[in-house]
Amino acid sequence: MVVVMNERATEAQIDAVISRLIELGMDVHRSSGVSRTVLGVVGAHKIDPELIGILDGVHEVLRITEPYKRASRTFKPENTVVSTDDVRVGGDEVIVMAGPCSAETEEQVHASAAAVKRAGAKILRGGAFKPRSSPYSFQGLGEEGLKMLRSAADAHTLKLVSEVMDISQIELIAKYCDIFQVGARNMQNYTLLRELGHATKPVLLKRGISATIEEWLLSAEYILAGGNNDVILCERGIRTFETATRNTFDISAIPVVKKLSHLPIVADPSHGAGRRDMVAQLARAAVAAGADGLIIEVHNDPDRALSDGAQSMFPAQFERLMAELRIIAPAIGRSICLEPVSRRGWAR
Ligand code: PEP
Ligand code: MN
Repeated sequence: MVVVMNERATEAQIDAVISRLIELGMDVHRSSGVSRTVLGVVGAHKIDPELIGILDGVHEVLRITEPYKRASRTFKPENTVVSTDDVRVGGDEVIVMAGPCSAETEEQVHASAAAVKRAGAKILRGGAFKPRSSPYSFQGLGEEGLKMLRSAADAHTLKLVSEVMDISQIELIAKYCDIFQVGARNMQNYTLLRELGHATKPVLLKRGISATIEEWLLSAEYILAGGNNDVILCERGIRTFETATRNTFDISAIPVVKKLSHLPIVADPSHGAGRRDMVAQLARAAVAAGADGLIIEVHNDPDRALSDGAQSMFPAQFERLMAELRIIAPAIGRSICLEPVSRRGWAR
């Protein structure tokens, strides 16, 4: 349920409505817009909306028709900005996360981190626990990989996002990463999502391989319902009848999510395309479509990568893409790290 207050409702009236709702056992989220205050209420099916509608200062009471509540824009009209220190995802700036698919060696992680930092990325990506389709493929280095990623992120003043596959890994990964990544294969691992609802770090939630946008937002709802409001959605392509690309990158998910939800959304063109010669095109399209950021696989020597080498960009390709994004982002009213670090000496 959403309670829309009158434009001229006083603070005392707003407080009285909130107190009444809490007294009735509801969970209340307050959003104060330019002209009105809106109260998002969860658990409201248990109460009679008319009883709230007659309280002083209330303009109208609406039902949230979507099955997800906390993730919905009706519940919270203003955009959510997810921060990890000074890096803010969902604000004006388009945030780029980049790095290898997996941590492999000290040298590879450091060289890739240096390259993405130089080009203007703010967050290092890299997996230490890898969800591979085959049990015989490289599964990641575990804690050793996390140590490499953390030290490279620190050495280059980057934040770190890394995948968590199971609740048993949360505590360990939390020691090293700034943002948990939940992979496409785990989007419906509800035990994991519930547990991350109690985490104190943001969660980047990828869209499942065959998930509808509604199912994806319901998965976000699991995390939000546990009290963790810092969820970043990530479109990474879905499985369709098309086989020319690894997945079908669903560009329309970006405006659809923006309409349905207040949560930030980033795009992963690497897993969408599955081949490095098509990553830049999808990345540019995603930013133009309104994505709040990108997560891109970049490897210092992609032809020798232990996972996802074919879709990992060379550092020079990534640098060129960043230069293109510096033209696209301002054209749609967004900012992006202004110039390569090498020319400025330090990133903003
Ligand atoms: C990854 O980011 O390397 C990854 C495994 O992604 P996804 O879960 O989207 O397949
Ligand atoms: Mn990968």
